[in-house]
Amino acid sequence: MADPLAFVEAGLACCALESTACRAGLGPKVDAAGEVRGTVFVVAGTVTHAMAPAIRARYDALDGPVTVVAFGACATTGGPYWDSYAVVPGVGEVLPVDVVVPGCPPRPEALRAALADLPTPSSGPVDS
Ligand code: SF4
Repeated sequence: MADPLAFVEAGLACCALESTACRAGLGPKVDAAGEVRGTVFVVAGTVTHAMAPAIRARYDALDGPVTVVAFGACATTGGPYWDSYAVVPGVGEVLPVDVVVPGCPPRPEALRAALADLPTPSSGPVDS
């Protein structure tokens, strides 16, 4: 990653094991002045309608530039539960997504690769 970034994770289902494995050893990264210069918000797992407001609230509470990563098929499209009455067909229905990591589940290395090639973060939480 070019800039120091904080890593915030919404681990919701099986994909969370993979994203957490990626997170191990990353930790919040700060610059020489001790400032976190951006946040990566990783949504990993199945987003239910019941959980969606909490995920949105967590996103809205983040300060500064935020890059949202939808990690895995469920977070991206609802995955194998895409037509379930209880499942949101992708976290993009709830907040703006910048990066998609495909797979069911993706491997931790896939998230590391995505983090190494992030787009410029948006200026902060926005209305979706
Ligand atoms: S994409 Fe697959 S591994 Fe990931 S949360 Fe959904 S069912 Fe589980």
